[in-house]
Amino acid sequence: MTDRYAVIGNPVAHSRSPEIHAAFAREFGEDIQYERLLATPSGFVETVEAFRNSGASGANVTLPFKPEAFAYAGVCTARAERGKSVNTLQFESDQVVGDNTDGVGLCRDIVSNLGQPLAGTRILLIGAGGAARAVVGALLDCQPEILAITNRTPAKAQLIVAEMDAKKRFCAVAPAELSTRRFDVLINATSASLTASLPMVPPSCFDKNALAYDMMYGKGLTPFLALAASTGARTADGLGMLVEQAAEAFFLWRGKRPSTGPVLNLLKQNSQ
Ligand code: NDP
Repeated sequence: MTDRYAVIGNPVAHSRSPEIHAAFAREFGEDIQYERLLATPSGFVETVEAFRNSGASGANVTLPFKPEAFAYAGVCTARAERGKSVNTLQFESDQVVGDNTDGVGLCRDIVSNLGQPLAGTRILLIGAGGAARAVVGALLDCQPEILAITNRTPAKAQLIVAEMDAKKRFCAVAPAELSTRRFDVLINATSASLTASLPMVPPSCFDKNALAYDMMYGKGLTPFLALAASTGARTADGLGMLVEQAAEAFFLWRGKRPSTGPVLNLLKQNSQ
């Protein structure tokens, strides 16, 4: 019988996860079906329960339901607990296991695909919403010299730092204090790019050989990446993170690690 998976979100029509998982399944000749499921703003639990009860094997969860998926899962992995956010659900016979693969996906894209080490570097994480919260633990696991987090509403960044047990290497920096700081890796985890806005990051923050990473992906440079490019920084969007987090979810579900490079190239070709 074909094993069934889905990505649940709102909106979800734009999701490229079905394309990615179909490519992973082809690599191994796995018989899976992967669909998009639109849940109403208050209908996440109803949607996921109906899918599970129909005999499905698991689901990915995207905006805005990751915190709800964390509350829904009966058991969560340590990395999901750290960010209080779940993007991958595994339906077992007696329980639902929640995990979050966003952090490992981001770090694999930066380190393995883009060749930018994170150990010993100065990282600036911009934003303190669900995406930022989900990747903090994985970034700290990479042993940076410092991980600084900044946000338009500084109290939210301060709260994330207060919740983590990593005070020596993890700090909150208010936007007004950024002009005196320089970083090797700057990650835009805000949703500012969705409205073509620029988060408050002065050009002086980008070190000479900095990597600027925008979690959003799409055609052309976001305002954040355009600013970074104007300082001479290397730029990357979040398509690689999307593929890497999906590969980790596929591994959890199927026990096989797909090759991500060809799938990333395929997505880039299909976007042109
Ligand atoms: P949230 O709504 O939870 O958080 C939004 C964050 O962006 C907040 O910190 C908010 O600041 C900040 N923000 C919004 N608008 C602006 C602005 N104009 N200027 C400065 N800061 C702003 O969203 P998520 O954290 O869930 O998602 C953030 C982004 O990450 C999205 O673009 C999403 O698509 C992307 N993403 C990509 C993934 C991938 O695989 N590539 C995976 C997950 C997310 P404040 O607190 O002040 O409101």
